[in-house]
Amino acid sequence: MMVERAMAAEAALGTPEGPDHLVLSEVGMTFGTLDVIPSLSLSVRRGEMVAFLGPSGCGKTTTLRMIAGLLDPTRGRISVGGRDITHLPVHDRDMGMVFQSYALFPHMTVAQNVAFGLEMRRMAKVEIRARVERALAMVQLGHLAGRKPKALSGGQQQRVALARALVVEPSILLLDEPLSNLDAKLRDEMRVQIRSLQQQSGITAVFVTHDQVEALSMCDRIVVMRGGHVEQYGTPNEIYERPATPFVASFVGRTN
Ligand code: ADP
Repeated sequence: MMVERAMAAEAALGTPEGPDHLVLSEVGMTFGTLDVIPSLSLSVRRGEMVAFLGPSGCGKTTTLRMIAGLLDPTRGRISVGGRDITHLPVHDRDMGMVFQSYALFPHMTVAQNVAFGLEMRRMAKVEIRARVERALAMVQLGHLAGRKPKALSGGQQQRVALARALVVEPSILLLDEPLSNLDAKLRDEMRVQIRSLQQQSGITAVFVTHDQVEALSMCDRIVVMRGGHVEQYGTPNEIYERPATPFVASFVGRTN
């Protein structure tokens, strides 16, 4: 079975055992009278890739947006490397984000899109050029640096978005359903690419998905979410072989 083969390959690589890097302590979010996240606590180790997995509406994106600083939590504390970032503005958080929609600037070339975040930081031009070149080489798009996004395929656009997120060398990479706009074949390729980039760079990553195969095959650990709380947090193997609740069993369930 595909999931089991992918999981076996991952297990052979081992799970990072680094110290906690990103920590959420009793974090909550209320929209008006809607208590979307009552109280959520979890930690992500340095260098690991963790999936937030669950059905639509369970609070995955809301949690990611609180980590990114795009939403201000109603309660609780978020820290990175021991530093409290709960209410810091987005640009002070040292995080890279990749969205489902790519969000590339259509009027800019690939290279200009990737350079944008560096220019905002007023980095020297020669340093910007070197970093953009490196980032585009990493996603194998150096030859398309002068193109506009609309001249690229969906997979290539997603790789530009990845290069743009990684070029600033963030301490944490946040990915919100980055593969859901791609067709099945490209999705398979990008799964492998994203995971290998994450492992090569050793970056801590959080990956939002509703797709159990994506979570099981790409991530070191999985947070299974339901109705704004954590149903189970464990390695793909634990989640798949020893689901803690009937919900986890049916959501992640064996597909054979
Ligand atoms: P997921 O990413 O798991 O699909 P979301 O985090 O997007 O879930 O949403 C969780 C719940 O919060 C849903 O019921 C959604 O309708 C609600 N929600 C999300 N954003 C807002 C908002 N800005 N205002 C009100 N309700 C919201």
